[in-house]
Amino acid sequence: MVAPTHTLKSSGWFNEVWLGFWTALVGMRITLKYFFKKPETVQYPEERMPIPDRYRGIHYLEQEKCIYCFMCARACPVDCISMEAVRHGKELEWVSFTVDYNRCMFCELCTYPCPKDCIHEGKEFALVTYDRRDLVLDLLSWKGMSAEAKQRFEAAEAAKASGAAAKDAPKAGAAPADAPEHS
Ligand code: SF4
Ligand code: SF4
Repeated sequence: MVAPTHTLKSSGWFNEVWLGFWTALVGMRITLKYFFKKPETVQYPEERMPIPDRYRGIHYLEQEKCIYCFMCARACPVDCISMEAVRHGKELEWVSFTVDYNRCMFCELCTYPCPKDCIHEGKEFALVTYDRRDLVLDLLSWKGMSAEAKQRFEAAEAAKASGAAAKDAPKAGAAPADAPEHS
């Protein structure tokens, strides 16, 4: 016996409704599974995920230790480190120490040859800008001479000046060059 046409049509409609309801439930099962768990997402940039200790991010320089030897710049395979300083005896007057992050590939090869272990890659990674020129970063903490270097330089200059004055002064007890000779 053949079922009436209107009965078949209504059972198909109920099947469709049931299927829609069931698939929504299956989808929501995954949602519900995570709904009561601690969220994995963070509200960047206000919040940040922990960064591993060995992450290779934007460089930082311990400027007071740097001796302006160019070893880091020579080791860089893409030639993106530049520096400029003026030597005053043993002290340095800094002009710039830049890394061009348009080229840097964060390989860390610049850090290994540093004799003072003073250039490092840190955990900062945000290099977001509308202007590529902003990607040339100066790592200097100060320009010119540090306060300590200035003090050392002035002390060395004063010592040098007093040493020279002592050398020029006539020796104690020595007769002046123009003193008359006694017969
Ligand atoms: S990380 Fe690599 S590419 Fe970047 S400055 Fe250092 S040596 Fe050059
Ligand atoms: S290798 Fe180290 S000490 Fe030499 S210039 Fe680079 S950062 Fe300074």
